[in-house]
Amino acid sequence: MKVAIIGAGACGLAVANVLCKTKIEYVVFERNKKPGSKILASGNGRCNIANDKVIDKKIKINYQLLYDFLAVNECPLVMDDEGRYYPLTNSSETVLNVFLKALKPHTLRLNCPVSTIKKQNNQYLIGDEVFDKLVLCSGSGAGIISTKRNVVYDYLTSLNIQLTTLKPSLVGFKVKENISSLKGLRISARATLYNNQKAIYTEDGEVQFKEDGLSGIVIMNLSYYYNQLKYYKNPQIKLVLNPNFDYNHLKSLEYALPRPLFDYLAKNNLKPDNLKFSILSTYDQSMAQVIAGGIPLAAINLDFSLKQDPNIYCGGELLDLDYPCGGYNISTAFATGFMIGENIKDSYEICNRIKDASR
Ligand SMILES: Cc1cc2nc3c(=O)[nH]c(=O)nc-3n(C[C@H](O)[C@H](O)[C@H](O)COP(=O)(O)OP(=O)(O)OC[C@H]3O[C@@H](n4cnc5c(N)ncnc54)[C@H](O)[C@@H]3O)c2cc1C
Repeated sequence: MKVAIIGAGACGLAVANVLCKTKIEYVVFERNKKPGSKILASGNGRCNIANDKVIDKKIKINYQLLYDFLAVNECPLVMDDEGRYYPLTNSSETVLNVFLKALKPHTLRLNCPVSTIKKQNNQYLIGDEVFDKLVLCSGSGAGIISTKRNVVYDYLTSLNIQLTTLKPSLVGFKVKENISSLKGLRISARATLYNNQKAIYTEDGEVQFKEDGLSGIVIMNLSYYYNQLKYYKNPQIKLVLNPNFDYNHLKSLEYALPRPLFDYLAKNNLKPDNLKFSILSTYDQSMAQVIAGGIPLAAINLDFSLKQDPNIYCGGELLDLDYPCGGYNISTAFATGFMIGENIKDSYEICNRIKDASR
């Protein structure tokens, strides 16, 4: 059996780490010069690899496979107050190295973009190489400036798989107000997303002001809930600046706020506990951490193969599965990869047992 894995990201490297311990032949195709660029970028270079909480029950994901792999490979994790796991080294590079150490260099084809996939006699042609199974784990365009067409999305569409709408998520928002004077400021705030005057989601954290919008983890989390809205009517973000501070006893805010914010509030006659911004849109995919939407879960079997063609497996961000910040996205990409690898291994062993029995 020969397996093509398209993408050397979190999902593809997890698949390869299962297959490398079997007799199954596999090749990982990676269009970049180096593997795992998003593993390296995650958690600001620290790799927020997982979260103690499980927030999704839409699909059964075995996160234990990721924890077991890290434990066996002696890559200890530490957890912060909010349940986020990081490698003890605080470095994404450690995580990438753990995932690369068992892979033979010839199985990892770098600088090797897959540009066509063809099906021929129940097998798959990539260039002129023939494979028995495909693993599609080419991720998304999040965090990337690219106008190139996504070959894997095109291939899925050619199989009549209707992708759900792709939207940048875990991303900042462009706002209507002129806030260029606040560019570069960071402040602790309580941020609430409103739609049609109704509060949708609130979180406390650091807000970053940009030339034309708002960002920061707390704002990125708002974008996750924004993308789930069925319709948009006057969507807004309300900020309460320094939410644990009582401004009432102060005669003036002059020394309680950074000067540009003090000036902005004074000019617009605003209060620090009621600062509203009208959302124009999210920023584009190049500024996003993930893309919401993708392969609908209804199109895949429990083993992550396509209902349309069970020899094709799909995992990671290609799936219509996305979460707020906190390690949920990357751990899902890793875990789906391990599950796909285990399922391919099982189907290989069953085939061999059937062959042996018929001899
Ligand atoms: C800046 C940034 C920070 C992030 N921080 C976090 C975080 O702290 N915690 C968290 O949970 N998530 C985080 N994420 C999200 C997380 O990194 C991704 O959800 C996860 O890495 C997706 O894994 P994947 O394997 O599905 O896809 P990817 O990691 O994107 O891997 C797909 C691979 O396929 C390759 N590829 C694509 N097309 C082709 C082709 N045609 N031929 C060959 N190769 C191809 C790509 O080059 C890529 O290497 C962050 C993302 C970004 C951009």
